[in-house]
Order: sequence, then C-alpha cells, then structure tokens
Amino acid sequence: MFDTLDQVIDRIREGQRFLVIGHVRPDGDDISSVASLVMILRKAGKTAEGCIADGASPFLERLDRNGIIKDVDALRDYAYDTAITVDASELARIGEAAKLLEGRGPDITLDHHKSNLGFGKINVCDPAYAATAMIVYEIGERLVDFDLDLAEMLLLGIATDTGFFRYASVDERVFSYAAHLVREGANIGRITEAVLEHRTLNEIHLTTAMLDTLKLSANGRLAAAYVTAEMIEGAGCTDDDTSGLIGEIRSIAGVEVAIMFIESSEGSVHVSLRSKQAVDVSEIALQFNGGGHARAAGCSCTNVTLEELIKTVTAAAEGAIASAFPS
Ligand code: 5GP
Ligand code: MN
Repeated sequence: MFDTLDQVIDRIREGQRFLVIGHVRPDGDDISSVASLVMILRKAGKTAEGCIADGASPFLERLDRNGIIKDVDALRDYAYDTAITVDASELARIGEAAKLLEGRGPDITLDHHKSNLGFGKINVCDPAYAATAMIVYEIGERLVDFDLDLAEMLLLGIATDTGFFRYASVDERVFSYAAHLVREGANIGRITEAVLEHRTLNEIHLTTAMLDTLKLSANGRLAAAYVTAEMIEGAGCTDDDTSGLIGEIRSIAGVEVAIMFIESSEGSVHVSLRSKQAVDVSEIALQFNGGGHARAAGCSCTNVTLEELIKTVTAAAEGAIASAFPS
C-alpha cells in the first residue's frame, strides 16, 4: 500500500521548487521534519520553503532558530512544483496550509502515524520509525552531506518523539542515527534545554490548577484531567503552554492511559491521549475523528461541551482498558 523511499528520491530529483508542510499544533518532530527537509532540499540545489499553519509560537521560534518555517500568508504567492507533507496523518492535520495546495493533494507524504491511510501521490508512512525526522534523515543521507545545523535539526525530531530516548519505540536504529548526528556536531544538551527547560512560572501555575481536576478510575489505570479556557487564561498562559500537561499525569504509577482535555478559547476541545504498554490509544482517538500512534494520540472536537466530551472519551478509554486487562 505504501511507497518506497526510492520513489521519493526519484520524485525529488525531478522537482525544482518544493513546498514542505507540517501539521498544526506542531511538536518537535514536526518542526524538525519541515526545517530539516527544507535544509536538505536547498543543499541539494533546489528551491524550498517550509510551512506550518499555526503562525508564530515561542516554541516554534525557539526551535527553528534560523527562521526557516513560514506561515501560510507568507507563502501565498510562492510557486512550487512539488508539495510534501511531513508528520501529518491526514490532510486535515495541516490546517489552513491546505489552501496552498489549491484543492489537490500533496505529491509526497512522509509520516510514521499508524492511522495514516496515505493521502498523497507518493506515500511513505511507516510506524516502525520512531520519528518522521528519521525518514527525513534517510532522504538527507542519500542526497547531501550533513552539517551541524542540519544534524541538530534532525536530532530534535528523534529526541522529542522518543521522549528523549525513553519510549518503547527506541530501537537500535534510533541510537545509530542519533550517534551519527552527534558525530556531525549535534548537541543533545542544547535541544533538551530548548524543549524541556523553558517552562514559565505561569505554566507551573496552570499545572497546579490542572492537578486539582485529576481523577483516577479503572482501578487506577486511567488518569484524566482537564484545563478550561478560563483556567488557561487565568494562569496567564496560551494554548501553546499546554503540551507538557499530559506528561505530568502519565507518569503516575499504575496508570496505563492518561487523558488531558484542553478547552480552547474558540470553544473546541483538544484531547491528548497517552498509554504505557497495553492500550492502543490511537483506536480511541479514531472514534472521535482523531488519530496518532498506539502510545500517543489525539483529537480535536467541536460542537460538544467539555463535560460531555470528558464523559464519552473517559467511557471509551475505560472500555479499552477493560478489554486489555480482563479481570
Ligand atoms: P498531542 O496529544 O500531543 O496533541 O498529539 C499526540 C499524537 O496524536 C501526535 O502524534 C499527533 O500527531 C496525534 N494527534 C493529535 N491530535 C490529532 C488530531 O486531531 N488528529 C489526528 N489524526 N492526530 C492527532
Ligand atoms: Mn512524529
């Protein structure tokens, strides 16, 4: 069903002007995959631009130090012959950037989400890769020499999508690619500092408020908590400051599934799901039109109150836990 990297390389050789698109609510792997692929294409003598539709966020600006990634407005008049999406499991994930595709699908999609059905002309999607940045690494290896900037940008994606080399997805290939990137000058300490050690006091206050909503159920196997738009604003935070919350409750001993409900100021609710060993949370997210990986998935829901959504998603998770742990 999916295509090979050879087909991607052939298609890249044919193209001249590239548009690389990531997903909304970008994480480290997304930022890394967009920026690294743009760097590789430029090094290979192509014209390339990168786009993430969320606009500027402090997280993106901190990680994209050279300002490679642009917003949709900045690229409205950019003419390209090849569009590539990275780390996006479905077209809806690229948000407003879909406007740049003018109604057609991308030429190439590169991804590692289990729920991806392939929505481009050439699709490389393999959940065996711990990060999309590892697919970009393999493209880079075949087209250009790595330098420090490219190596560190690629390491960002591998580090963040493996929880800084902690998740079960960490295999020999992860360490082998990381070792090569470190040999090229990438510094994991700089990445750790930029990603993990930039919490503001306001984020700590929001975490405290979130912990007040925490509920354990399913014999302690399910942890669920929420933040309302009012709580986010009250703590002096923005939606951008909420991505670390889920990790706080996932780390509780005995918890198999953690769910974080994040209400946005526009009224939609983002649901983040995590699991440790036995429950495939992408299956739960799919029930709510989302997707993701077995151990990390999410969905964004509109036209539903936070209260209703907590009830239905929690019930779905309790069902999945009951199936995975029959007593
Ligand atoms: P997070 O909970 O950190 O937002 O996302 C966790 C994982 O779920 C990521 O791999 C992300 O790509 C995926 N994900 C999050 N939200 C959505 C969504 O609305 N739709 C789909 N298909 N995947 C999502
Ligand atoms: Mn990823």
